Amino acid sequence: MAGLVDSHCHINFPELAADLPGVIARMQAADVTHALCVSVSLETFPEVLQIAERFPNIYASVGVHPNERAGVEPSVEQLAQLAAHPKVLAIGETGLDYYRQSGELEWQRRRFRTHIQAARACRKPLIIHCRQAAADTIKLLQEEQALEVGGVMHCFTESLSVADQAMEMGLYVSFSGIVTFSNARELREVARKVPLRRILIETDSPYLAPAPYRGKTNEPAYVRRVAEHISELQGVTLEQVATTTSQNFFSLFGQAASGDRAAVE
Ligand SMILES: [Zn+2]
Ligand SMILES: [Zn+2]
Repeated sequence: MAGLVDSHCHINFPELAADLPGVIARMQAADVTHALCVSVSLETFPEVLQIAERFPNIYASVGVHPNERAGVEPSVEQLAQLAAHPKVLAIGETGLDYYRQSGELEWQRRRFRTHIQAARACRKPLIIHCRQAAADTIKLLQEEQALEVGGVMHCFTESLSVADQAMEMGLYVSFSGIVTFSNARELREVARKVPLRRILIETDSPYLAPAPYRGKTNEPAYVRRVAEHISELQGVTLEQVATTTSQNFFSLFGQAASGDRAAVE
């Protein structure tokens, strides 16, 4: 079978970092050939990069999560400079989260704009986190001309209309283990209708383990469960989901990762 790619995980978090060789071995056993370890703060970015440098099939991104309140605020120059590393494929995760944060959120919007500007400066795509903030997310992406670099709406939980708007801007839509949850009927309808050629798959591990592992520590190997679910929803084989979503991953994250594409096909 063609390999699967976990487009979004946090294997530098303590739940997974303690047993990285085990995480990598279980990926291999599940035909998960690559994973993108996504940065959430500048303070922890060195850990992310170290993992990407240690394991050839793990990539990195650089960014500060919209729920990170304390810590160093990144500048456009700093993000672009850190993203110059060949294993850093993207800027993020970034975006807006009006669910976890409340009150005056101009700081979040300012930070999101900084990330979009950095992505344009270094010509790398965006990994976008969006929770109860779809309208502003789309608006800022348009205002800052994110179309120029593209990206992915990660851990997608919005409506089909938001998915359509994202795709119109050239973005991919990434589904996580949430599609397997019994209460996610509406999201499954979205995952049925988004064309496979615009879909990425992810775990967002160590959180959001798919059924039947719900409540346990999630890990990249479990992206296979997400792929199986997408194949049922789309009425295609697991092989087709693996081939297409992995091709989507490598065409989005392009240059830096393209040397590894042969390994997937
Ligand atoms: Zn996120
Ligand atoms: Zn994440």
